[in-house]
Amino acid sequence: MNKPIYVTQPSLPPLEEFIPYLQQIWDNKILTNNGPFHKQLEQALCDYLGVDHLALFANGTIALVTALQALRIRGEVITTPYSFVATSHSLVWNNITPVFVDIDPDTGNLDPERIEESITPATTAILPVHCYGNPCDVERIGKIADTYGLKVIYDAAHAFGVQHKEESLLRHGDLSVLSFHATKVFNTFEGGAIVCPDAKTKQRIDYLKNFGFADEVTVTATGINGKMSEVNAAFGLLQLNGIDKALDRRRQIAANYRHLLHGVKGISFMPEITDTISNGSYMPILVGKDYPLTRDQLYQKLKDHGINGRRYFFPLISDMPMYRGLASANRERLPVARQLANQVICLPIFPDLSDDQLNQIVDRIATIDR
Ligand SMILES: *Cc1c(COP(=O)(O)O)cnc(C)c1O
Repeated sequence: MNKPIYVTQPSLPPLEEFIPYLQQIWDNKILTNNGPFHKQLEQALCDYLGVDHLALFANGTIALVTALQALRIRGEVITTPYSFVATSHSLVWNNITPVFVDIDPDTGNLDPERIEESITPATTAILPVHCYGNPCDVERIGKIADTYGLKVIYDAAHAFGVQHKEESLLRHGDLSVLSFHATKVFNTFEGGAIVCPDAKTKQRIDYLKNFGFADEVTVTATGINGKMSEVNAAFGLLQLNGIDKALDRRRQIAANYRHLLHGVKGISFMPEITDTISNGSYMPILVGKDYPLTRDQLYQKLKDHGINGRRYFFPLISDMPMYRGLASANRERLPVARQLANQVICLPIFPDLSDDQLNQIVDRIATIDR
């Protein structure tokens, strides 16, 4: 059997290229606390992403928890059941009640039509996810937030580098949160960031990620330790050199999958989104009733052949033990999310996936009896 293929594989630059960065850290002995590489990476990411301010974090989850604290979000927050658990967990870590709202089948994102009916006097914010890097309906979500006086924090863990209507998708909402985990399109091993609109908000976020310290003797809040180290920041700078090439290759692979799987009975895709330059972060396919195998049978068959797709996102967050008791987790409220969770397989997509591997994967899906 060939070497197993995973849903993703991090791209790493040649190790020699990282040594000079480490040498610099060894020379100056600054390991963390907003050191020179940390400062450089914040600026480089602002420039690359086309945003004004950004605060680096140790990971995306701590960044989400801190983003909610920075805006003093309380009570209930409207969010999606179709995501990675960290989205809802970040609410619970702040003693906030998640209110699950159904999604739009074309994007996998919160359905703006369903948001208003879930707003109560306790609602303070909306926490949508740009699922697979598909842009949320940012205009309508923004309007609803303005009408009801709510904050909007985007979980943009999938949305690194996505351009929407000729600007960064990360410019929407009050804050956007990125993840630089090993499995994401841009990684710093572990890492994350909050994108914020102004220097004052960034300052407060910087206090919160450093225990609440504003200066040596002033602690402004029960902050956490969410700082990114110099090693991670240096690595991020090196990774940025290759990011355009990596994103191009991902988009090319996504286009190849669409082309080669087109016409396979029972296999479909989410529609491509207009006005958007995607980042090729995920390759979800939907296994329909017309396909000879069930979704789980296809998933298992691929696995038996060393092709490790993932059922992102199954199960729904709202079906997990710590959430399923919530009124908003009621199965009848979330039919679209449930349907998608039962049909989806995310196929392997990463810059080093070869055309040959891609053809193998397509073959396994298109040929029924192997
Ligand atoms: C990866 C991910 C996170 C968590 O980010 P970490 O850096 O792994 O903590 C949060 N939300 C979504 C949607 C993710 O995919």
